[in-house]
Amino acid sequence: MAVDRLNRSYKLVRRPQGMPAAQDFRLVEEAVPEPAEGQFLVRNHYASLDPAMRGWMDDRPSYLPPIPLGASMRAGTIGVIEKSRNADFPVGRWVSSHNAIEDYSLCDGGGRTRLVDPDGVPSVTNYLSAIGTVGMTAYFGLLDVGRPKAGETVLVSGAAGAVGSLVGQIAKMKGCRTIGIAGGAAKCARLLRDYGYDVAIDYRGKSYPELIAAIGEAAPDGVDLQFENVGGAILDAGLVTLNPYGRIVLCGLISQYNSEPYPLRNVWQLIAKGARMEGFIMTHFFHRGAEALPDLTAWVGQGKLRVDEHIEQGLENFLPAFLRLFEGTNEGKMILKLT
Ligand code: NDP
Repeated sequence: MAVDRLNRSYKLVRRPQGMPAAQDFRLVEEAVPEPAEGQFLVRNHYASLDPAMRGWMDDRPSYLPPIPLGASMRAGTIGVIEKSRNADFPVGRWVSSHNAIEDYSLCDGGGRTRLVDPDGVPSVTNYLSAIGTVGMTAYFGLLDVGRPKAGETVLVSGAAGAVGSLVGQIAKMKGCRTIGIAGGAAKCARLLRDYGYDVAIDYRGKSYPELIAAIGEAAPDGVDLQFENVGGAILDAGLVTLNPYGRIVLCGLISQYNSEPYPLRNVWQLIAKGARMEGFIMTHFFHRGAEALPDLTAWVGQGKLRVDEHIEQGLENFLPAFLRLFEGTNEGKMILKLT
């Protein structure tokens, strides 16, 4: 198939200091690359916008190398194969991969690349949310790292977001009592109405002692498992109410991604309570997708798992769409429609 368009690509040209700014990026137009033997060309249709992308912009050790200055912004995408020199990835098929904020990407089929079937799910974008890495983050983070038991109390921060909304619903399916923390009355209403949380806590406008008091009131018998997406004062406050032998699953620390780390005051509680705080990164579970994806696909198909996606339009709008994650104005999994 002839491809005569240019490839728009969103490049990182300067490392952000604090919140990313327009000067940190440049939108360029380049020739569409040609696949070599073993490669294929993907027309990216949708890109996943994830808080983790902020960390990839920094030059510091992490689970993935920093994005080099001048390179395209790395992103999970789904798209359609337009040219192929790889028999396993035929033209016309939808594919999910780690590509970039660009119209076209070259892939070799390695790493996280997999063919996906748009007919098998309510929306093909679900492969970037509940039936993709976000769903697997909630699934393995909660069930494998957190190991909830029926009857336990689970506290989730960032509870109205992509990961948090799924964690709350899965914990509920496992027979737990769920408490969600989110910003603002509208999001707290969604926690109760849409994601089945038993209690919602609005952290906005609350002082640190008020946050501790609100968690204590919501969990009179203490918290057994805290699924942490936010960090900072919320993590610190949760430590006070954690039960003996409780678990804290460290999934993310979004409140810290554009600022200096928050000095935790209550780490002693882990010692006093014989509790466990364990971080995890979803990529370490990627090879176990066959355990999670059938459950997640079935739950979504059966309507047991509500999936909210917030889709913004246009590759050129990458930055304002990405910043919504830090403003808290995304309503569900943040996705950018590139085409
Ligand atoms: P969300 O859809 O939850 O969007 C981000 C939300 O974070 C915002 O809507 C906002 O919600 C909240 N937020 C932003 N800034 C702050 C702040 N300063 N204080 C408190 N809340 C804030 O994003 P995801 O579900 O994609 O990601 C959630 C977390 O999970 C992130 O920390 C992310 O890095 C982590 N993650 C970890 C993975 C892993 O493998 N360990 C994989 C995927 C995600 P509100 O309006 O309620 O404040």
